[in-house]
Amino acid sequence: MSETAGRTVGELRTALQGGDLSVTDLLQATRAAIAAADADEPSLGAFLWVAGDELDARAAELDRALAAGEKLGPLAGVPVAVKDNICTLDGPTTCGSRILEDYRSPYEATAVQRLRQAGALIVAKTNLDEFGMGSSNENSAFGPARNPVDLTRVPGGSSGGSAAAVAAGLVPLALGSDTGGSVRQPASFCGVVGLKPTYGRVSRHGLVAFASSLEGIGPIAGRVEDAATALNVMAGFDENDSTSARALVPDFCAELDAGVDGLTVGVPREYFPDDLDPGIEARSRTALEWLEGAGAKLREISLPHTEYAIATYYLVANAEASSNLARYDGVRYGWRAPGAESTSAVYRESRGGGFGGEVKRRIALGTYGLSAGYHEEYYGRGQRVRRLIAADFERAFDDGIDVIFTPTSPTVAFELGERLDDPVQMYLADVFTATANLAGLPAISVPIGALDRLPVGGQLIGQRFDEATVLRAAYVLEHQMNAR
Ligand code: GLN
Repeated sequence: MSETAGRTVGELRTALQGGDLSVTDLLQATRAAIAAADADEPSLGAFLWVAGDELDARAAELDRALAAGEKLGPLAGVPVAVKDNICTLDGPTTCGSRILEDYRSPYEATAVQRLRQAGALIVAKTNLDEFGMGSSNENSAFGPARNPVDLTRVPGGSSGGSAAAVAAGLVPLALGSDTGGSVRQPASFCGVVGLKPTYGRVSRHGLVAFASSLEGIGPIAGRVEDAATALNVMAGFDENDSTSARALVPDFCAELDAGVDGLTVGVPREYFPDDLDPGIEARSRTALEWLEGAGAKLREISLPHTEYAIATYYLVANAEASSNLARYDGVRYGWRAPGAESTSAVYRESRGGGFGGEVKRRIALGTYGLSAGYHEEYYGRGQRVRRLIAADFERAFDDGIDVIFTPTSPTVAFELGERLDDPVQMYLADVFTATANLAGLPAISVPIGALDRLPVGGQLIGQRFDEATVLRAAYVLEHQMNAR
């Protein structure tokens, strides 16, 4: 691997600005390292598209600007990979689906635009579960991504390709999307950092919709600081997304090292059930000791509606998916079944042949949950229980809790194929992450240890728009991990 592999955004910035490395060489080395990972047997499978020479002119321009001592953005020259359900102008945007196999977006997601304005080079699009539906990356129409820590295991999902790319040291930063855990769970499985910002913090314009009321774009990085830098760049109101927030955007890097002295960390008992894997429990308790050692107070709390989270999440997410995915009709977007002879045959055959099994299952369930006579009983009830779950969190924060700690996932990365025949087992992978989406809260996964070499992640959940505290606490855990 190249000398640039595994370097953080901060290290690359120093090397580029100090003249030790040129953007052109970095870009070259990144492309070569990605090609090598793709050529490996078995392949990492993290990428669905890699930039050719389309970035060369931009790299040369950045090199000239660096040599001239111009003040550049915080990501100047940094290679970034983007999950393939986020629209980019270079390369296709497939969503991991046959139905969008050749789709090219005519516009760019706001988050991507902001990264590029900060100097980032979008070097690749990453593999994912089809339309973000999955927890293992095995639902990609283009084959699974693998976990670089152990290639027989899944990288998690749905942003598995982004997490694998960062964990393999191929890019220091990648974008994922998180509807029920898709940034945090793969980050946990691959041993990297994944941040889901508050709902509305980062524009969803250009994020292909799966479940609009739950999801958002978030960074996956090797370091907490790099995730904070990415959030700095991407956050803020966007007139193209009416749900993007006008909330003030602080400098998320400024107080990263402020520590947790005096903060109260909530430890929800529902996230530490009796049957929790003892290894995950032990790593989590150690992480809690680190926070305590840094001056935080720990307090046991209860979030009593947690047991309904998975059922509620899948009701709401599938209902919204069935509506959002109605646009793929073989006429307006993507693949059209050849030879279909009537309008309804075009719809039926294009959707039948274009979508994979999991997507169809969800459209069927979601359509049922929204149909006449059942709408109130399913989607309506789902939305009401969602309120209760959000209220659990509000109560905890009103009660003086600053940030909540939980394991990110009930397990470490599982074997490829292990859960494919059992969708419910697969859905349970989201049991600790989906609540933050239902409540719209910011949450991060940060490495807290390993079990037999397989990474374990800890999750910190904060109050709405308080990513700063979440990042601060994550920074303490990262420091303790590195100190060991
Ligand atoms: N694994 C969850 C699902 O399958 C979450 C996916 C996501 O966050 N995009 O829906």
